[in-house]
Amino acid sequence: MRAATVPTVWNLSRPVRDGKRCVRCFLPLDDDSVPAGIARGYWGAHNLSVTVYAHPGCTPTPTG
Ligand SMILES: [Zn+2]
Repeated sequence: MRAATVPTVWNLSRPVRDGKRCVRCFLPLDDDSVPAGIARGYWGAHNLSVTVYAHPGCTPTPTG
């Protein structure tokens, strides 16, 4: 299982964290955004990990 590299939650801008912008190119996302991975982050015991999104063309094509 090889996940694409995703920054941690702390390195995301708010629009990216909110799924409004592409995690790769930071441009606004359309309805055809695809999940790009999970940005992980912990605040004490709280798991703040979020799924981030990208344009289909910005996401590495899964192989295998
Ligand atoms: Zn993009």
